[in-house]
Amino acid sequence: MPVEDYDIVIGLESHARLLTETKMFCGCLTRFGAEPNSQTCPVCIGMPGVLPVTNRKAVMLGLRAALAFRCEIPARMRFDRKNYYYPDIPKNYQVSQNYSPVGAGGFVEIEADGVRKRIGLDNIHLEEDAGRLMHPEGSGADYSTVDLNRAGTPLLEIVTRPDMSSLTEVEAYMETLRRTLEALEISDCRMEEGSLRFEASISLKPLGSTTLGKRVEIKNLNSTRAVLNCLEYEIRRQAAALDAGEPLTQETRLYNETTGRSERMRSKEEAHDYRYFPEPDLGPIVVLDEWLDRIRSEMPELPNLRKWRFQEAYSLPAYDAGVLTQKRSIADYFEETIAAAEAMGAEAADLAKQVSNWLMGPILREVNERRVDIAGLNIPPAHLAELVGLIQKGTISKNIAQDLVPIMIETGDPPETIASRRGMIQISDAYAVEKLVSDVLEAHGKQVAEYKDGKKAVLGFLMGQVMRQAKGKANPQVVREILTRTLQS
Ligand SMILES: [Zn+2]
Repeated sequence: MPVEDYDIVIGLESHARLLTETKMFCGCLTRFGAEPNSQTCPVCIGMPGVLPVTNRKAVMLGLRAALAFRCEIPARMRFDRKNYYYPDIPKNYQVSQNYSPVGAGGFVEIEADGVRKRIGLDNIHLEEDAGRLMHPEGSGADYSTVDLNRAGTPLLEIVTRPDMSSLTEVEAYMETLRRTLEALEISDCRMEEGSLRFEASISLKPLGSTTLGKRVEIKNLNSTRAVLNCLEYEIRRQAAALDAGEPLTQETRLYNETTGRSERMRSKEEAHDYRYFPEPDLGPIVVLDEWLDRIRSEMPELPNLRKWRFQEAYSLPAYDAGVLTQKRSIADYFEETIAAAEAMGAEAADLAKQVSNWLMGPILREVNERRVDIAGLNIPPAHLAELVGLIQKGTISKNIAQDLVPIMIETGDPPETIASRRGMIQISDAYAVEKLVSDVLEAHGKQVAEYKDGKKAVLGFLMGQVMRQAKGKANPQVVREILTRTLQS
């Protein structure tokens, strides 16, 4: 059967490193790229007898995520021990949340192929990261080393229900999650630094069947590309096995990015029993209503909701709304520009689209070239609003406006001031244009006669002559109007 004859059932677990200065249960720094083992202390290297102290900021970030994703928040939450052995986890357990996580249920709302869908969450929970094993290469390098800088770094694990049924949905989910966590300043989501990592589970069943297929879990996916490539491979592998009547087993696999294939790691029989139990060194945390009220009051609009609001409130195309809401600072700038333009009396129906075009085009080009945040560009929203207004009133042409942008950045002056100081104001005044037109017509009697003989193409030539006389500063629309009227009279 072709792949299309199977229902695809996918769930994702994501680990996001929380944006805290220090670790989950000690005061060690969490900076990326420090000298190995330079950010450690007896607590995070698991010395006997030490006592953990919970990082308040990590708890608040977890609660912020729980509120953003509409999870249920327990009145009291706890930490639990997840017991296992591995050389990068010296305590032989990881402190996590199994019984009363920071958030239960909830959803992430995505848009895939123009359709909105809620991807249900099973839970979100706080935990500490493990250290890292390093395997030196080269001759004689028959050993591995352990770096415990990462051990104890606060993580948020976000576990979905198996609600995704295509790679498009998986991609939209990962993108929405990343944008949301970034916008809420919960995580920087730098995948190249391991700040956002994924694990996937996938099963296939014949279309419409109610019997679930055997679930395969895939560990250690360090980029969205790896997730998509790996799932694409798994769909083909599982479909081929089902077609051939080969039984699939519930198992955990590892994805090899070099070969593009997944390999068996362990079967269900070998699955770990983590023997979870409440962490005896940490008491329960009573979640106060006043914490939640404060977090709610500081919560910005979620990027996806803002995107959909931009589409509806400003009648913007989905593409524009997506670009403008990619960063909170850009979305804020857009709305401040619209507000400033309206305060200046702008009434054009396509005002939002005009502002969007200028923002996505020349302004963001300058932001990217100068590698600054939009707030550091030296063009306050009121100046962009003025620029768009000047074009709409015909005071300056679009070309002149393009030239003005870099000067606005250099000087910090409003566009009208610069344009009048440098003589860039467009001639829209009918009297001035009439004078230019009559001069040109007088000098080109031959072409005027040709026009009157029906050779209308000559209008373009005469337009050009008037624009030349005006040194490019005449308003082309006004010129065309007056020229045609004069020729026809
Ligand atoms: Zn420490």
